[in-house]
Amino acid sequence: MSKARTRESLVQIAIDGPVAAGKGTVARILAERLGWLYVDTGAMYRAAALLARRAGVSFEDSKAIASLVDRSHFEMRNPTDTERDGRLTTLVVDGEDVSWKIRTEEFSRGASMVAAHQEVRRSLVEKQQKIATLHNVVMEGRDITFRVLPKAQLKIFLTASEEERAKRRHHQLIERGVDADYNTVLDDLRTRDWRDSERGTDPLHIVEDAWVFDTTGMKISEVVERILDKVRPIISGSNN
Ligand code: C5P
Repeated sequence: MSKARTRESLVQIAIDGPVAAGKGTVARILAERLGWLYVDTGAMYRAAALLARRAGVSFEDSKAIASLVDRSHFEMRNPTDTERDGRLTTLVVDGEDVSWKIRTEEFSRGASMVAAHQEVRRSLVEKQQKIATLHNVVMEGRDITFRVLPKAQLKIFLTASEEERAKRRHHQLIERGVDADYNTVLDDLRTRDWRDSERGTDPLHIVEDAWVFDTTGMKISEVVERILDKVRPIISGSNN
């Protein structure tokens, strides 16, 4: 782990981008290489949908969902040795490990629905900002570069062609043993992209100072190395 830092010298890498752009995989490896915390904010929206489902609350009921989120304690950590079962992150909500429970198509869709509500976003953004006051982070999502961490030292908009993203997501599901159909995956990805970019509150967009990184046709290891080349000078700067 990196040495203890004061709040002012904490380093933040903010990554935004569309569905299945590889943000999670890339952010996870970066965090591991740097000894920092990987924060998967999508997992928190998924958990909000899970809380709603369990409480019998509709995905449309913004106030009730925000109140469920406000009352819940979220802990996000890099997987420990005993948790290394293919997950990218461990999310514990009120003492329960929900890391795998939120990885279903129901909660992919549910997350994108609950994320459209301003109250829900406010509550989760607060939790995300709090995490970044305690750790060096590689945080990824849809609003990190402009809402959650607008002062991040490095802002990346990670993307890839729609076809490549659908192929990657399809492959990921098949590897997990899910009987997924490519065209359904593509349709779902288009719907979620549309919802993320058209919603009234904090729609996905590219900020002026973001590095737009199109990874179509690139290997993950190359993507990680290109990003590390940009992170190293930031780290040496913050150590001075
Ligand atoms: O990244 P992931 O697919 O797990 O995210 C689930 C959904 O949560 C996304 O489709 C998006 O609608 C929403 N989300 C968001 N803002 C974030 C992270 C995720 O609106 N920062």
